[in-house]
Amino acid sequence: MVSVALHKLSYAYGSRQVLRDVSHVFQPGAFTAIMGQNGSGKTTLLRCINKMATDYQGLIEINGKDVRSLSLEEMAKTSAFVPQGQDAVFGASVFETVLLGRLPYMTWAPAETDYRIVDEVLDRLHLLRFAATDIHQISGGERQKVYIARAVAQKTPLILLDEPVTYLDMKHQLEIMSLLADLAVQGFNIIMVVHDLNLALQSCSHFVFIKNGRLISVADPSGIDEALVQDVFDVQAQQMTGENGRRLFSLWKKG
Ligand code: ADP
Repeated sequence: MVSVALHKLSYAYGSRQVLRDVSHVFQPGAFTAIMGQNGSGKTTLLRCINKMATDYQGLIEINGKDVRSLSLEEMAKTSAFVPQGQDAVFGASVFETVLLGRLPYMTWAPAETDYRIVDEVLDRLHLLRFAATDIHQISGGERQKVYIARAVAQKTPLILLDEPVTYLDMKHQLEIMSLLADLAVQGFNIIMVVHDLNLALQSCSHFVFIKNGRLISVADPSGIDEALVQDVFDVQAQQMTGENGRRLFSLWKKG
């Protein structure tokens, strides 16, 4: 299990300051939604946590260790990253793509355990029937599920996902959200950029909103109210109660 602590994290692209003095702890067992308007710095935050960007100010610690001091191999066994829109490996099957998630554990060739884990994950995500299919011959939504499967097969205690469900239909969105929520219950630390507030409210345990480079964290989703939603997303919002007392927000354009 791992915790991720941000200590006064600041990030700028040239003169464009994106994150300002951000401090937060992502706990194991939490399924955290990172939300904010386009360009607010969500992807940048994930890239810093995953050591893909290191030119930040402040400190990021994973289980008390400075991320900058972790080797690539240590990172690959700690954190799996599902970026937005990926380029598939040319000519690889779905099975081979997911097997790539096992690379950090392989010496020469995949072991029996690696094959077993890939089978289990494909089964869990209902992808077994595509196992032998070329990654280019499945739909964009199915391919997205394959990338999530690869991250899950990596068996890292931390999983970072950048808008993983944006191109999935509703059924598959709910399937992925439920899988990630289950992993969090098992102690994984799941951090996900997502745009659909109502979808996130169904499954996520923690919320982090980014506005003007600052971070507003809400540990208990019941702390999210109309004023906060209106402020962060610059829209009109009305809270409603759905099935089983679930909270939802009706959203519409301002003015
Ligand atoms: P989000 O994920 O919230 O949409 P990003 O983290 O991708 O936001 O980007 C935050 C801001 O930084 C945006 O204004 C974006 O245009 C800018 N930005 C992102 N990547 C770069 C880059 N490589 N060079 C310069 N500016 C960038």
